[in-house]
Amino acid sequence: MIYRPSSAHRWIRCAGNPRLSAISAACKRRVTPVEASEGIKKHAYLSARLKGESVKTDTETEELLKSLFDVIVEKRRAGAMLWSEVKFSKMFGDTEICGTPDVVLTTPKEALIIDLKWGEGRKVEALHNDQLELYGLLVYNNFPTVENVKLAIYQPRGQGEGYVEVDFQKDDADFFEDLVIEAIETATQHPNQYYTGPHCWGCAALDCGLGPICPAVLEMTLAATYATLKDEEPRAENLSSFALLDFEARVRDYFKRLGDSADSRLAAGDPIPGWQWASYEGQSKWANEDTVADELAEIFGTTQEFFVRTHEKPMTITEARKLLKTRKLDANSLDKLIIKPLRHRRRRDTGEFETEDPGFDSVE
Ligand code: SF4
Repeated sequence: MIYRPSSAHRWIRCAGNPRLSAISAACKRRVTPVEASEGIKKHAYLSARLKGESVKTDTETEELLKSLFDVIVEKRRAGAMLWSEVKFSKMFGDTEICGTPDVVLTTPKEALIIDLKWGEGRKVEALHNDQLELYGLLVYNNFPTVENVKLAIYQPRGQGEGYVEVDFQKDDADFFEDLVIEAIETATQHPNQYYTGPHCWGCAALDCGLGPICPAVLEMTLAATYATLKDEEPRAENLSSFALLDFEARVRDYFKRLGDSADSRLAAGDPIPGWQWASYEGQSKWANEDTVADELAEIFGTTQEFFVRTHEKPMTITEARKLLKTRKLDANSLDKLIIKPLRHRRRRDTGEFETEDPGFDSVE
């Protein structure tokens, strides 16, 4: 079971999350998205600067982090102690939760916790932020004389509002602690109970490098995929996360590749039990689109322009046939201008299957 402060908003709502987070963490193929790796670099820079190391970064990053450093310098001048990248912990029943806030500034009576958010796509709120409030509990636990904790988000880009600070008083902390204890108990007793919602966004169970491993999300994505494959409108509740759409696209892509692969094998003469390569006549089309307007003009005894549509395309075969009928001309007079191309496609055999399995299992 993994109870990270950064995913507290998930495991507080979804009992299945801590177990799947642990499985996902054990998965070696998990990759860090580009935006997250950018964030990691900026956090490393912040941490190094706060430790007094001489580190360099680009001018834009320096500019964006300036207001944060200003807040820290001001608090330090007022006598606050700085704790950067320090791990704090607290026991919740038998479960220990550890967390490493980006910045903690303490005086004997007060503490300020600041979390840097480098992402720009979604605004991160400081108020009722589960990650920050969990840090708040850890800080209250580790600094017994502190009577009031303030929580701050510093999000300098995109949707962020820069520096936002809120209070997290003892009463709020007691209420939140009960919530955390209850969430841990539920996760322990019901590790297979999943609750999907907007908190699924970014969940480790959605992408451990092998695709989603969350049964609730898999079930919903398969339902959404099935509905889409049947050209039905997927139900709104099946689309609670963009990950569902990504997964659906992957499933569709898989079936397309499966079909293409079957086509190539059948075309090369490879047997696929239950399927055969069949030829059929494709849709009728003009034998020569460049000359057909002139040829139609001759048949109908009018000007060539009449048969040219938008984008220099000739009149369609259906339109020309209707016109023949209206003008009471010979119904076969278009035959010499039209071809029916031969196409190939795979078709299910009408005969006996060679095996019980229709055969796609061996297609790459
Ligand atoms: S994807 Fe959503 S439902 Fe599944 S484990 Fe994560 S938070 Fe829970």
